Amino acid sequence: MQILVTGGAGYIGSHAVKLFLERGHDTWVYDSLIYGHRAAVPAGRLIVGDLNETHRIDQVLLEKRIDAVVHFAAFAAVGESVQQPAKYWQNNVVNTLNLLECLRRHNISRFVFSSTAATFGTPEQMPITEATPQRPINPYGVTKLTVEHALADYARAYNWGFAALRYFNASGAHPDGTIGEDHTPETHLIPLIIYAAMGKRPHIEIFGTDYPTPDGTCVRDYIHVCDLAEAHLLALEKLQPGQQMHYNLGIGRGYSVREVIAAVEEVTGKTVPIKEGPRRAGDPPVLVASSEKIQKELGWKPCYMDIKSIVASAWNWHRAHPKGYK
Ligand code: UDP
Repeated sequence: MQILVTGGAGYIGSHAVKLFLERGHDTWVYDSLIYGHRAAVPAGRLIVGDLNETHRIDQVLLEKRIDAVVHFAAFAAVGESVQQPAKYWQNNVVNTLNLLECLRRHNISRFVFSSTAATFGTPEQMPITEATPQRPINPYGVTKLTVEHALADYARAYNWGFAALRYFNASGAHPDGTIGEDHTPETHLIPLIIYAAMGKRPHIEIFGTDYPTPDGTCVRDYIHVCDLAEAHLLALEKLQPGQQMHYNLGIGRGYSVREVIAAVEEVTGKTVPIKEGPRRAGDPPVLVASSEKIQKELGWKPCYMDIKSIVASAWNWHRAHPKGYK
């Protein structure tokens, strides 16, 4: 396939691009580099552009004879989406709809979309299946769910085949050590704990110790970024015209914040200084995915099934790249 990956210089996108190229797909990255990293993209594969430049996108679709698009480019900070919803509606919804129109102009109808566990809000029942009602509780989740709805309409009316993949907590790094997680500012738990272990930060703050969980801290389903990349490729390869795929992606097991800290201490051999703090607004106590549907229907299976192996791959990256891509 000739694949265009928007946001392919970002954390999850770059892992997908590496996999698509390894599997022989002619893959191109379209990324604004606002958050993405030039060094995360193989030489000669990057087109720098913003999602709002539809003429550029039209040109790329034509020149590269693209026949499928994987759309990672989006803003993804929950807290910021509450403070600045306009930024999220503009980029995650308006720019995405403009991208969909570019694809329609070029008769491209195969599309894989980065969705999120945040589309579910705070469900009572665990694990979260594809039948769980989607009731997002922040603008980020709402914008992602809005695009899921648009895609369903496009599939019905225009015979598009699309996959909406709802990631739980993406984590880890490529085992070859060449690409990994580098966000500015960093807000994610695993890199922040590793920074505390390395002495790059004074401590890790635990956001809430009074949750109704076994050790009082939040439980999340951490999924390795390479396993996520595989799910995108499987979906791309199996999509049929008119087909709607919705899949939750996690390993089906949750780990508490304290368990993740213990895993980092074990993997790095270092003590992590801890500060216990208040809850972070909007954090549900437990989020765990059921990924049975994608396992059954597409034969996807995560390779990284425990937190220690995920943390070990992240540690491998951070140790070799203490300043990230800089
Ligand atoms: N968390 C924490 N301290 C931090 C960052 C995160 O205790 O400095 C907790 C957070 O409350 C959540 C979990 O770690 O329960 C994972 O947070 P992250 O921001 O990595 O991902 P999210 O679950 O918000 O998508």
